[in-house]
Amino acid sequence: MHAIVKDRPAPGLKVATVPKPSAGPGEVLIAVRHAGVCGTDLHIAEWDAWAQGRLKPPLVIGHEFAGEIVAVGEGVGELKAGQLVTAEGHIVCGHCLQCRTGNAHICRNTRIIGVDRDGAFAEYIVMPATNVLPLDGIPTAVGAVMDPMGNAFHAVLSAEIPGSTVFVVGCGPIGCFAVGIARAAGAAKVIASDVNPTRLALAAKMGAHRTLNAGRDDVVRAVLEETGGEGADVVCEMSGVPTALHQAFAAVRRGGRVQLLGIPTGEIPVDFASEIIFKGITVSGVIGRKMYETWHQMRRYLTAGLLDPRPVITHRFPLAKIDDALAAIRSGDAGKIILEIA
Ligand SMILES: [Zn+2]
Ligand SMILES: [Zn+2]
Repeated sequence: MHAIVKDRPAPGLKVATVPKPSAGPGEVLIAVRHAGVCGTDLHIAEWDAWAQGRLKPPLVIGHEFAGEIVAVGEGVGELKAGQLVTAEGHIVCGHCLQCRTGNAHICRNTRIIGVDRDGAFAEYIVMPATNVLPLDGIPTAVGAVMDPMGNAFHAVLSAEIPGSTVFVVGCGPIGCFAVGIARAAGAAKVIASDVNPTRLALAAKMGAHRTLNAGRDDVVRAVLEETGGEGADVVCEMSGVPTALHQAFAAVRRGGRVQLLGIPTGEIPVDFASEIIFKGITVSGVIGRKMYETWHQMRRYLTAGLLDPRPVITHRFPLAKIDDALAAIRSGDAGKIILEIA
């Protein structure tokens, strides 16, 4: 089968022919139709310090996908060939303290497809049946972005949204999803900031009441103006950029909540007293998707038509054009990019 392979410990990716996998006990074989391309794949292609410390080539990359089940292994009862599905790409141990207390999204033994084992930029992928979710009528192009959209669902729905003012900092694909989710969940006002006008336009399309250009506008002052001087009830920090993180703390109201999802590249000095403690705010780190609460919530929002994430998908490429897909991410102007595999 055709696949995108990280073939050696150096920059670059290879379009290669590799053996088609088969489903062992408890596993399903899925023919991939659509796959999402993500910043993580860019880190792997560029072979940055994180990738060097984590990946052991050769490996098929890609961790966001949806497709059709073509075979089920021994002992798989719930799933059938012909079903359209997506899957949680974090394969967890089921034994650690986190797994056994309903927090498998922070399992200490997590193995990620396309990072720690073969991934989804291929014609076929094998997944443990426990990780697989039927799409129930959701198109596979949308199913392919449910992994990053799930991060946005996790970040937004961990806060109290109905009637709130929500400020989304950073309008990459996950930030744009977060805007739509906050609207669908009943936020009274959604404000979004970014430095890129294309991304701000996408955030507006997803329902942001007001967009702020962080390169030009006084973001904190604008949020205070929009909230009668109080600040936002909930801030979702999706950028990981130091100045944006400080804006997140400055723009949240006293007693409000900051959801941190964007990953800074290094240490950032924080004035704990003035930015967090004296304001009495709650700061929460968001990683992955709750297994499987987030997935069920997301599937219900999508099947009920509460949210249409498709405007965020701005580019589609065939599998072999992975380099063009990565170039589009690098340009900073793209929303979500997907590969059309079948
Ligand atoms: Zn991803
Ligand atoms: Zn575990």
